[in-house]
Amino acid sequence: MKDFCCEYMDYHANFKCDIHENPYDCPDKIIIFDEKSNEYGIIIHDGGSSQIEINFCPWCGAKF
Ligand SMILES: [Zn+2]
Ligand SMILES: [Zn+2]
Repeated sequence: MKDFCCEYMDYHANFKCDIHENPYDCPDKIIIFDEKSNEYGIIIHDGGSSQIEINFCPWCGAKF
């Protein structure tokens, strides 16, 4: 398993909801981490599958 920059990112990147199979459907899921491209994104809950790519951790400021 990947080591994330801080416990907050670790929690949110690994967060899995029991109710919503699709992370884009879950209002509690805010960070999406793509292991293949090693990219982080913030999910925009607009009913689709939008996300904003982020280059810094919003909690600790670490650069990805
Ligand atoms: Zn962090
Ligand atoms: Zn959910």
